[in-house]
Amino acid sequence: MLKRISILCGVLLLALSYSFTDHHEERVDFSRAERRMLHIPTAGLFDGADHFTVTPADLKRDGWCFPVVDGVVFTPEFRHEPVGWYIMSAEERHEVRAAMEGVVRLVRKTDLGKTVVILHPNGLETVYAHHAKTLVRSGDYVAAGQPVAQADADHGAVYTYFTMMVNGVQLSPSTFAEADGRLKPDWLRFSLDGEGYVHATLHRPGTISERAPRFEWMKAQELVDLDRPLTAMERQHVGVATPGLFENTSAVTVDLSRVGTWSYPLPGAKVISPYGGKRKNHTGTDLKTRPKDKIRAVFDGVVRFSGKYSAYGNMVVVRHANGLETCYSHNARNLVKVGDRVKAGDVIATVGRTGRATTEHCHFEVRVNGVPFNSNYLFDHARHALRSDKLTFKRKANGAISIQVD
Ligand SMILES: [Zn+2]
Repeated sequence: MLKRISILCGVLLLALSYSFTDHHEERVDFSRAERRMLHIPTAGLFDGADHFTVTPADLKRDGWCFPVVDGVVFTPEFRHEPVGWYIMSAEERHEVRAAMEGVVRLVRKTDLGKTVVILHPNGLETVYAHHAKTLVRSGDYVAAGQPVAQADADHGAVYTYFTMMVNGVQLSPSTFAEADGRLKPDWLRFSLDGEGYVHATLHRPGTISERAPRFEWMKAQELVDLDRPLTAMERQHVGVATPGLFENTSAVTVDLSRVGTWSYPLPGAKVISPYGGKRKNHTGTDLKTRPKDKIRAVFDGVVRFSGKYSAYGNMVVVRHANGLETCYSHNARNLVKVGDRVKAGDVIATVGRTGRATTEHCHFEVRVNGVPFNSNYLFDHARHALRSDKLTFKRKANGAISIQVD
């Protein structure tokens, strides 16, 4: 053991305010108390053992990134809260990004202003406060780097307050990282004593056994087995049925709030031609940015098709565990090959005008069981945001698919 840190003194340093009412519908099963109280023990954190560890590898696996692009940690004169980081940015209104992937637990006003708390698969929570605007809701899955709030000027400075918590008790981000965001090498062990207090100890890497808490409810829906080998048909054609998806049922529900991490396919793009269109035969949504811009996988998945596909030009099809497939075409270049595993946000192609296209753009399709449907069911394209509905796909005898939204 190198050093013992007390994390108990941080309890209730941030007084709660009950002036903010949240009318949003819940999608992950947080209790009312969890949605309202900043400092609350994390349910399930010590299930099965009286301790768990957090290593730099755990943080990296969950996507660790600095919450403000080009932000600088500073010590303000008015400082009233000693545990976290005050982060300044040259931007008038900077976006605040999720430091790691996770699920938003709390979004409400506290004494620190509008506050967001995210619970991460590694057992830690991150707190983002002092915002003009929050961009997420309780229950949302967020990817590492996804904007969760926007900061604004106050006290003559634009800053974000960022801190971390374990079991509802504050722990400085400096425990894990340098002020420039670089992770420290130490391993942390959190143990629960008989009185219900959590003690944190720092250890040299590799000197203690690892035990990471994993939360069942954080896992994305898995309707399709991505490990099953692809058939020649699946590797060569786009509109093919997904084995296993409608095997024992005629209706499949994809819960968009449980798809795990996601990315907009072409950040910064605008829709130049919608699904359907004037002649009702446009099977995708045309997204326009600049030539050679990076096209990103919408969800984690496996590349099912990558190659030239007649009028589509260069096309990539990604199969996702949630049962959906996403297709990206007219690409200048495909950067992945069949069988590759991709993560949400991975760059899989660049924007081009191969195939039948009159301008550089990405013809983006979403399909279920090989049948295209309107990507508006998935994305609010104006906000570049994933929707949070439950989509029920019913397969008719002729293979057509109907969609019901809940
Ligand atoms: Zn198109």
